[in-house]
Amino acid sequence: MQEKRTLYKCDACGKTAVRRIGTSIWRCKHCNTTYAGGAYTMRTPAGDAAKRLIEGHKAVIDAKQ
Ligand SMILES: [Zn+2]
Repeated sequence: MQEKRTLYKCDACGKTAVRRIGTSIWRCKHCNTTYAGGAYTMRTPAGDAAKRLIEGHKAVIDAKQ
């Protein structure tokens, strides 16, 4: 798969140096920050949806307080 060689931008240092090191595990070879992501791409549509769901839930909790 081509995606294995793809490098992604690191949120921590800003370098395009994040590569897949295992299933759903990504690491920046510049600053060694490790990310949990998708199996073949760093960010998946499903992951983004889950994040939005969590943020939406938090917003509901905040509104009650
Ligand atoms: Zn980095």
